[in-house]
Amino acid sequence: AQASLAGGISSSSRATSAGPHPYPLYIESGSGSRIRDVDGNEYIDYLISYGSAVLGHASPHLTEALTGVLRTGTMFGTCNTLEVELAELIRDMVPCAELVRFANSGSEAVQGAVRAARGHTGRSKILKFEGHYHGWTDTLAVSNRPTAVEAGPDTAPVPVPHSPGIPAGVVDDVVVCQWNDPTALRTALDAHGRELAAVVCEPIVANNACTMPQPGYLDLLRKECTARGIVLVFDEVCTGFRTGPGGAQGMFGVVPDLAVFSKALGGGLPIAAFAGRREVLESVAEGRVRHGGTYNASPLCAAAALATLRRLNRPEVVTHLRESGERVMEAIRRAAHDRRVPCAVQGVGAMFQAVFTPDGAPTRRYRDLLGADQARHDTFRHELFRRGIHTNAYGLACWFVPASITGAELDSTCEAVEAAFAA
Ligand code: PMP
Repeated sequence: AQASLAGGISSSSRATSAGPHPYPLYIESGSGSRIRDVDGNEYIDYLISYGSAVLGHASPHLTEALTGVLRTGTMFGTCNTLEVELAELIRDMVPCAELVRFANSGSEAVQGAVRAARGHTGRSKILKFEGHYHGWTDTLAVSNRPTAVEAGPDTAPVPVPHSPGIPAGVVDDVVVCQWNDPTALRTALDAHGRELAAVVCEPIVANNACTMPQPGYLDLLRKECTARGIVLVFDEVCTGFRTGPGGAQGMFGVVPDLAVFSKALGGGLPIAAFAGRREVLESVAEGRVRHGGTYNASPLCAAAALATLRRLNRPEVVTHLRESGERVMEAIRRAAHDRRVPCAVQGVGAMFQAVFTPDGAPTRRYRDLLGADQARHDTFRHELFRRGIHTNAYGLACWFVPASITGAELDSTCEAVEAAFAA
């Protein structure tokens, strides 16, 4: 198997001006934890479609579920039984989920949660954090990855839109705050608290180096939001169901008012959900706040989600995901340590990232990444790719471990890590 991995970097897979290496990369097929490009090169896949194909590619669990639906009808335009079953399963798995609504993508579901928060509170402002990503909708796309200049002085909050191309005025309702900084949070809340409908965050910052919450920080968010009548939204598009049945809220024991799910939820099919407190979501349930969409929880996607969640709800699958990722994390730590390369390996087993911070200290805020060695990170990723390991090529979004990963694939991965550091 090792011999067939990345049998050679072909012309179609080389870095080009069209994008960062290894793109363009044309994939022909996938099976389990592997993808195969048009030139026949195979890679062990730690991108898994940005975390979506959590059971692996062409998973038999999904194939079986989807085939059944193809025989019984894929769209009805009214409530279907699979949708109800899925909502009930989400309610059972996720601590905050009293009511559930569906959408087709993470961006839409975040938008739905924000709308519900605005409807519930009657306020309009949203507070988000530097370096957290919540999709492509105008409002919450701002300030995902500010440059050092845009990030500005070391004070908060930053009520400034950063996304080029969004007209002034469209994003006025967003306040951007630094993550993991209680003082910055209190300053922002004191300035804007009365007008804030929601505080939205990625509990583990999957989109920027898997920065972990400092101990007590999520509790602080919970406490402050409760005291000020602000809806706390965890964007669990990446953490949801992957880090355990209850997602990040289950892992950290902090229950938000609303949470957003996608990616691992559908196992590779386009489905998303926002779920949470009855009181907040009742405005949507009663139709006072509009939420809709032709394809929301279509039978095909609902069936894929049910099959995926039933797997991710099994203790042995949870353990396998965690332990597999921890093995790779440990291999990176060891290789870096042996060569005295400062490197922070952070996150949790099922999702993690290696960052070359100057002193190897874990990142705490987005700004810490501005001082990390991105060129070295790119080199590491390229060397892995040459050895048949496919990871995310854009920025510092994390490695996602497929549940299909085998012991032999983990061995190959750890060998590739060692060889990449040697190179
Ligand atoms: N929130 C988070 C945390 C995400 O990682 C993403 C996608 N990377 C989104 C929202 C948006 O999801 P989608 O791409 O499905 O619109």
